[in-house]
Amino acid sequence: MKHVKSLATQYELELLFDEPMARHTSMGVGGPAEVLAIAHDHDALQALVSYAAESHTPIALVGSGTNVIFADEPLPGIMLKLGRAFAELERQEDAELTAGAACQLARALEESIRYGLAGLECCWGIPGTLGGAIAGNAGMGDASICSLLKKVEGLTWQAERVTLTSEEFSFGYRRCSLSQYILTRATLTLHSLDPEEQKKLLAMYRTRRRNQPTGVRSSGCIFKNPGGDYAGRLIERAGLKGTTIGDAMVSPMHANYVVNRGRARAADILALIQLIRKRVNEQFGITLELEVKIISAAGHDLSLQ
Ligand SMILES: Cc1cc2nc3c(=O)[nH]c(=O)nc-3n(C[C@H](O)[C@H](O)[C@H](O)COP(=O)(O)OP(=O)(O)OC[C@H]3O[C@@H](n4cnc5c(N)ncnc54)[C@H](O)[C@@H]3O)c2cc1C
Repeated sequence: MKHVKSLATQYELELLFDEPMARHTSMGVGGPAEVLAIAHDHDALQALVSYAAESHTPIALVGSGTNVIFADEPLPGIMLKLGRAFAELERQEDAELTAGAACQLARALEESIRYGLAGLECCWGIPGTLGGAIAGNAGMGDASICSLLKKVEGLTWQAERVTLTSEEFSFGYRRCSLSQYILTRATLTLHSLDPEEQKKLLAMYRTRRRNQPTGVRSSGCIFKNPGGDYAGRLIERAGLKGTTIGDAMVSPMHANYVVNRGRARAADILALIQLIRKRVNEQFGITLELEVKIISAAGHDLSLQ
């Protein structure tokens, strides 16, 4: 990592060595990353990603960590985060909004309503960054963020800049082909609100979503809904609400949430996820697919077989 240190003397790059990933996720678990690198501008990002590609150093990207679970073991290589230059937000003409991938979704939603623009309500109450939301096509019910995208900018893992318009990517339920890039900026097409609607939306924005466990650590929904059913309903029907392993518990409020009651380790959470999958499969013959990303030294989406 000597070279990464020297990059930090030339670029707006912040480095944290042996940084516990538990500090960077809403679930509050995860072992140390060899280096957590926060690129505060485009030059720093490009230099770091080029270095990782040329030196074959493992590198992965994290936003606000609200949909990822890191394993307990140390993670070799670079964990990348986007910093200051990627958090900007601007209203464009024609009901468009351009925002950096590190912009918090909640801020994008609130600002868009203040600008008199609607569309982002599908992300009401969803924590995390715009980049993370696009990578997983976050949303609620049938509405999700990728349908609002006009254009995105980003980098490939070989550090080449890319700009893609909506005809050049595809998305579906909690997936988007753009997740293969390091997204840096997006332009969203919204629609104008009349003042009455704007007042209503602002009032709604201030109320809290009531169907989520609050005040506890979680990663949102663990599993995707299988076609025609709800993962939470199946988990509840399997009698698993409130089941614990260590300090990891199937939320008594929303069965598709696993919560960290304080001192859970990633191993406890992963064991509970395994148990849920096994029981649901035994009872209903359905294999639940993960919505949350599990990241370990072995790479993304650690197999849970
Ligand atoms: C209490 C709670 C409620 C939630 N409710 C919902 C909900 O209603 N609907 C919903 O869809 N989700 C929900 N989530 C899940 C989560 O908030 C979303 O998936 C969110 O969009 C993830 O953003 P993030 O910045 O935290 O991404 P992270 O969790 O940090 O990363 C998720 C994935 O996105 C990738 N990624 C992050 N940034 C970028 C980027 N710039 N470019 C490319 N890839 C990137 C990461 O590599 C990773 O694979 C909830 C989570 C919590 C904790």
